[in-house]
Amino acid sequence: MAEYDLVIGNGDVVLPGSGMTVCDVAVRDGRIVAIGKGIGGERAGRYIEARDRVVLPGAVDAHSHIGIYRPVAEDARSESASALVGGVTTMLSYFRTGANYLNTTGPYREVFPRMLEASSGNFFTDYGYHVAPMTHSHVEEIAALVEGFGVSTFKFYTFYKTLNLAGSGASREYIKSEDAYDSGHLYRIMRAIASLRQRYGRSVRLSTHCEDPEIIRVFMEETKGKGEGGLAAYSAARPPLAEAAAITHVAMLASETGCPINFLHLSSREAVQTAEASRHIMGGLDATIEVTLHHLALDYGRADAVLGKVNPPIRSKEDTEALWEAVAEGVVDVVVSDHACTTKAGKGTEMWTADPGFGGTALLVPLMVSEGFFKRNISLERVAQLISFNPARVHGLAPRKGAIAPGYDGDLAIVDMNEEKVVTPAALHSAQDFTPFEGLRVRGWPSHTIVRGQMALEDGQVVAQPGLGDYIRRPVGAQR
Ligand SMILES: [Zn+2]
Repeated sequence: MAEYDLVIGNGDVVLPGSGMTVCDVAVRDGRIVAIGKGIGGERAGRYIEARDRVVLPGAVDAHSHIGIYRPVAEDARSESASALVGGVTTMLSYFRTGANYLNTTGPYREVFPRMLEASSGNFFTDYGYHVAPMTHSHVEEIAALVEGFGVSTFKFYTFYKTLNLAGSGASREYIKSEDAYDSGHLYRIMRAIASLRQRYGRSVRLSTHCEDPEIIRVFMEETKGKGEGGLAAYSAARPPLAEAAAITHVAMLASETGCPINFLHLSSREAVQTAEASRHIMGGLDATIEVTLHHLALDYGRADAVLGKVNPPIRSKEDTEALWEAVAEGVVDVVVSDHACTTKAGKGTEMWTADPGFGGTALLVPLMVSEGFFKRNISLERVAQLISFNPARVHGLAPRKGAIAPGYDGDLAIVDMNEEKVVTPAALHSAQDFTPFEGLRVRGWPSHTIVRGQMALEDGQVVAQPGLGDYIRRPVGAQR
């Protein structure tokens, strides 16, 4: 019997702390068991020659929305296949009661098992869920969700605070609860999470969507009043000020309660500067900063209004460059796709009423390599931190995911640094029939994506069956 199930030979392997090293990586029983020169293929069940290609830790796409607009099982199958194209081996997806997803209400002890049931057997990647406590009684379930279901991360949407907000989709009907969804509710969530720190340390965390709905209300009215359209108008209607105001408010409560937080999808210079300043000014604040691929790669000059609608909005070219600076300087901790598969039909033709969001998980490694490494000289080690190591650490997946190191899962992306393709919907292998990234020339695509030592994407083709992916109970250190 072979000593190793799989050996990747002679690749430029991106190792944590030591950068790129030409060596072999050996996997047995789903785990990385050896890294070094000259392991070779003789003792391996399967050998892949990776000379002149880069070997990255499989990406952890920590922000996605499986099942938001389509049935969960179907969405998991098509969109986790798309993730493989992007070198993603673990997807963390958001889930809440109310409209969308399972379109249901009730306690998570009853609803969450249904989500797991719908997911089971349908993912190509490993996966987990962030859960949003929408009602007062959901807050009381937080400890049980960690303990019983391995859910270690939660979400609060600041822009649902004012219900019936024009153009946001946030209404009573949407949330389907009579409970107040406001700063008091947020405070209770934070207090509940902070109370778990003694037991779980900082690995139980709250992610926050920061946009102040009261600021949006005024800017939205004024922008619509001028009769303007297009994505520049959408950005003006939900301005960076709305992000910054919500960030300050959330940071204050997090600092007070001691709840570790994650600022989701900061889209503007003002948002990033405010979050970064709050980390320095507010004592005891543990806050990580996330940005998305679309806020890095698209600006409102180049994306279509209906198809490119997303919250927070696509911003100016100046904002995208400010985000890249923050990425390069180490201010940003995590880069994600915020993948939400929709369709042209779902988007409709009118920007103000179109479904927000779109997919992008298939571009996680390719865009970071192409726009980050090739165009902006961001090292591949830093790329691996942003899309693998940090998201794994922030979301309770370390020390199992996020690095090429002995004992870690054998999750790997082998990247052909010379492959260049223009983005089309077909290239992304998603069920989405359009992409706002269409036309971008991207260099550096995964040829192979390997999940726990098993081949999932080979020569750019999905070769595994759905069900390869496992549900990962988090925080992993506490769940062994
Ligand atoms: Zn999202």
